[in-house]
Amino acid sequence: MNYKKARIISLFLALIAMGCIWFLTVPEDPNILLIVVTIALFISALAVHLIFYKCPHCRKRLPSRGYPGETCRKCGKKLDS
Ligand SMILES: [Zn+2]
Repeated sequence: MNYKKARIISLFLALIAMGCIWFLTVPEDPNILLIVVTIALFISALAVHLIFYKCPHCRKRLPSRGYPGETCRKCGKKLDS
């Protein structure tokens, strides 16, 4: 998995988790399964981000905010290769 896929997947998982939280705000019937799924989604989003959102050359983590840019800020190599 490259850093672009990792970024999209972690964002996607986080969005689903936020959607689940929205369902959890419905006060009748608190659903334990939904709580577990929400926590699992957040953990997987974080895990994908931490494990795969890295420079393909030096394996240093890319900045989590904003677009990482064309080149790695640590080793200076192009990220797309
Ligand atoms: Zn690098």
